[in-house]
Amino acid sequence: MSGESETVDGTGTSSGREAGTAVVAGAGIAGLATAIGLRRAGWTVTVLERRAAPERYGTAFGIHPTAQTALDRLGLGDALRARAVPYRHARIRRPDGTVLAVLPLERIERRAGRPELLIARPHLIDALLAELDRLGGTRIAYGQPLTDPGALDADLVVGADGINSVVRTAYFGSRSGPRPIGTVAWIGIAGFATGLYGETWGEGRFFGMTPVEPSRTNWYATVPAATTARGVRDAFADWHDPIPRVLAATDPETWIRYEMRHLHPALPRFVADGRVALVGDAAHAMTPNLGQGACTALLDAEALTRAVAAGPDGLPGALRAYDAERRRSARRVAFGSRNLHRFMTARRPALRDALLRMLPG
Ligand SMILES: Cc1cc2nc3c(=O)[nH]c(=O)nc-3n(C[C@H](O)[C@H](O)[C@H](O)COP(=O)(O)OP(=O)(O)OC[C@H]3O[C@@H](n4cnc5c(N)ncnc54)[C@H](O)[C@@H]3O)c2cc1C
Repeated sequence: MSGESETVDGTGTSSGREAGTAVVAGAGIAGLATAIGLRRAGWTVTVLERRAAPERYGTAFGIHPTAQTALDRLGLGDALRARAVPYRHARIRRPDGTVLAVLPLERIERRAGRPELLIARPHLIDALLAELDRLGGTRIAYGQPLTDPGALDADLVVGADGINSVVRTAYFGSRSGPRPIGTVAWIGIAGFATGLYGETWGEGRFFGMTPVEPSRTNWYATVPAATTARGVRDAFADWHDPIPRVLAATDPETWIRYEMRHLHPALPRFVADGRVALVGDAAHAMTPNLGQGACTALLDAEALTRAVAAGPDGLPGALRAYDAERRRSARRVAFGSRNLHRFMTARRPALRDALLRMLPG
């Protein structure tokens, strides 16, 4: 049962053997989605989560059509669509409100036949936990930080333990850890719908707004120098409407502040030892500029569990197949996201803005 907290036995695995036994470290998006995929393939799964309970905070995730397909394959497409909202009609603007370009959402929708969606992180976590409950047979051990992946007696060990992954460090060393990129991000949800969405790019900083739920607006901002909520409000005080109103309407107690970091250099492999796989931020934490953190985690989870569905006997080959399917693709997205960050926060924005105006509408 996903809601219970149990002591993990010495092996860290569940008793009983079906297709194989797996220990998944981390009950975030990547870990829960991986547990669902493994469970659907008949594996016996234990999830170790260092926190004492599921964390239901967080703002919105963009879910690209490819990640929606991954959720469909994991049996979660309907649950996603029940809580998500489409993302359309978004523009890139200058701080004075002048439109520079159109975000390519309509093009994505035309190509994929369905729109980009946005869902609040707590709703996605709830949907994943509900599906695990429905499937049964998965144990989530809360308050159980994994410290020694090598000691686990399971067929498969999945590192879904986020940007500071213990599993990654155990197999790729402490130099594989994340590096700051020198920017602080702030995210929050305002209690009204702005009806005006997209991103506003200024000199060295940007502000984004998306829908997330009726009567609410998801926002994110980066300000290199701001260290307080007041500093953030001051930094955007003379930007176009509704940016100052959005910041004024969000209680600073609810803002999330984090230092932007990414894994650089990229890992040489997402798998190790013939029985260990990394998924999500543990494998390829990236800057959030392309909004692909949750999408890539879901694509990893679906690809990994599809590859290992055959059972533990062919595991080394399945892990190689997972690595081949996901590593290059995730690296491309992470590289694109980092470069987009540089472009968005250019210190001399005139050239950037001129280039943006040349993009197709
Ligand atoms: C509480 C929370 C709120 C977030 N809010 C946002 C947001 O609003 N917007 C946004 O864009 N991104 C947010 N993120 C990040 C986003 O969820 C990830 O970038 C993305 O979804 C990839 O998810 P992940 O599962 O790989 O990593 P994460 O979401 O970081 O999940 C990793 C999980 O592993 C657990 N863990 C870590 N170390 C261990 C260990 N040694 N043993 C066992 N468990 C361990 C962590 O507690 C966590 O639950 C948030 C992350 C968290 C944890």
